[in-house]
Amino acid sequence: MSGKKTGTIVKVAGPVVIAEGMLGSRMYDVVRVSKYNLIGEIVELKGDTASIQVYEDTISVGPGEPVVDTGAPLSVELGPGLIESIYDGIQRPLDTLYKAQGDHILRGSQLPGLSREKKWHLKPVIKNGIEVAGGDIIGEVQETPILLHKIMIPPNISGKIEGLKEGDYTVEQNIATVTAGDGQKHEIKMMQKWPVRMGRTVKQRLAPDSILQTGQRVIDTFFPIAKGGTACVPGPFGSGKTVIQHQLAKWVDADVVVYVGCGERGNEMTDVLMEFPELKDPRSGQPLMKRSVLIANTSDMPVAAREASVYTGITIAEYFRDMGYTVALMADSTSRWAEAMREISTRLEEMPAEEGYPAYLAARIASFYERAGRIECLGKPQRQAYLSIIGAVSPPGGDLSDSVVQATLHVVKVFWSLMGKLAYQRHFPTIDWLTSYSFYKQYLPSCFKDKEKGQEMVQLTQEAMGLLEQESQLAEIVRLVGSEAISPTDRMVLQTSKSIREDYLHQNAFHEVDTYTSMEKQYEMLKTILHFHKKGLEAIENDVDTEEIFKLAICQDIARAKFVPEEQIETISKIKDKIDKEFKAQLSGAKNA
Ligand code: ADP
Ligand code: MG
Repeated sequence: MSGKKTGTIVKVAGPVVIAEGMLGSRMYDVVRVSKYNLIGEIVELKGDTASIQVYEDTISVGPGEPVVDTGAPLSVELGPGLIESIYDGIQRPLDTLYKAQGDHILRGSQLPGLSREKKWHLKPVIKNGIEVAGGDIIGEVQETPILLHKIMIPPNISGKIEGLKEGDYTVEQNIATVTAGDGQKHEIKMMQKWPVRMGRTVKQRLAPDSILQTGQRVIDTFFPIAKGGTACVPGPFGSGKTVIQHQLAKWVDADVVVYVGCGERGNEMTDVLMEFPELKDPRSGQPLMKRSVLIANTSDMPVAAREASVYTGITIAEYFRDMGYTVALMADSTSRWAEAMREISTRLEEMPAEEGYPAYLAARIASFYERAGRIECLGKPQRQAYLSIIGAVSPPGGDLSDSVVQATLHVVKVFWSLMGKLAYQRHFPTIDWLTSYSFYKQYLPSCFKDKEKGQEMVQLTQEAMGLLEQESQLAEIVRLVGSEAISPTDRMVLQTSKSIREDYLHQNAFHEVDTYTSMEKQYEMLKTILHFHKKGLEAIENDVDTEEIFKLAICQDIARAKFVPEEQIETISKIKDKIDKEFKAQLSGAKNA
């Protein structure tokens, strides 16, 4: 450890260790703590005294033991081998560790994030002798059948490139040399390192321009998230936050998915670890893991590691974004991260703000979500990319005035409010259609090739939402005076709203067909429901009894539309003709009577 500063532990308070003799250390330097070599990070410096948050269990660590400053901030390794990995918060490969050490990872384990032995086949995409700069793509590695890993020049390097040639390399081998104008030489490797607390460099930030399709009807139709957008999913225990996050991880139209799980229940991450590798990407038929990176923190891992996991996840996500990809990051649940901040803050004896959270809670949450966005990537060739963030929040009792919810709502542009009440009624997803919102609705038409259809979809969604709002007002009246007192037209509104809720918004994540609905199918389904509504109103004008309308056999077809496989969408559009036919028969029946 020559040349590295060594201090001495004077106090241990749970995940926080205080050490003296740390003069010259910097904030956020990574340190090795005690004879067990635990990984920690300096989170406070006063004179020569450093407060260190330790990412591993500090049991039996005591005063007098050494602390060694590595002189580097907490960084992640970026390069081929990330995809399909399952990491803990500090990028240790959990699967490899499990294999080597069993269920409980030994403290101080030092396994690199990327395999040092594995060789990857590199294909250069540029010629030697040209000038390159940070972000330039110089080669490609087919990392998995569905992910082409782009090898980029690290952000701060530029000059003339030499020695790049096709071949098999480990991530640590030199693949080229870049000579800067001043003659300085940089050896280029496939692996880069990046400090996790710092956003990766971009050329330019851009406004969103399209929707990240999720196949979840209530989301895509009513509260869509933009590619590069941010969303918050708060809800009480059991309201379906985790199921939604899993659904998104499975179905979003992203090239790469980074899933950060800070487990609420002990076995929850185990479920993810067991289930994910089994899942297939519906588009390519390949295992979903071939485009995913998992960061897992089970609830028995030390709190500080949850902090790190959020940063590790977002940095990996940014790295794939920089290649020009559409990346989506899900974090479940960010409340566990906030709790870690609270615990560390308490141990540091900082002045608490609301609910005991540190005063910088909101700033930390904001700076995390601000790393999302649509961007122009650094370097050549010119390319755009997207990084979306969807964070679950689990406030105690589902209370939306909770500090973490409020701080998150301040920065995100989509709010999916999960209702315990709907979970109780078994209406899933429990996204409340009356209080949720999205500021990205204007991009909905981009989901359709046919511009007119896109515009029509916007109208359909507005009409449907209007009906749901009317329903909530009518429900009040019905409660007071009974359903007989309202007009036939209002009864039709109630009937159609019920159909929107039950036949459209309700979506079973565990049903083979219902689990995912394409935009085209969403359009057909909604159009059908609203067509029935229109025909119903017409019939009422012609004095047809509403009970007769609600009894029509076609209602069954509408209810079953969600189970029509994607390949047979045209059968849904044919329902409209059947509606017309049945109403015609109905009308003539009414007139004859
Ligand atoms: P939370 O993470 O908010 O505590 P979960 O995501 O674990 O809640 O959901 C709790 C349960 O609700 C699930 O185990 C499942 O039975 C049910 N559930 C949630 N969402 C759906 C859905 N879209 N379709 C069917 N069941 C669902
Ligand atoms: Mg959960």
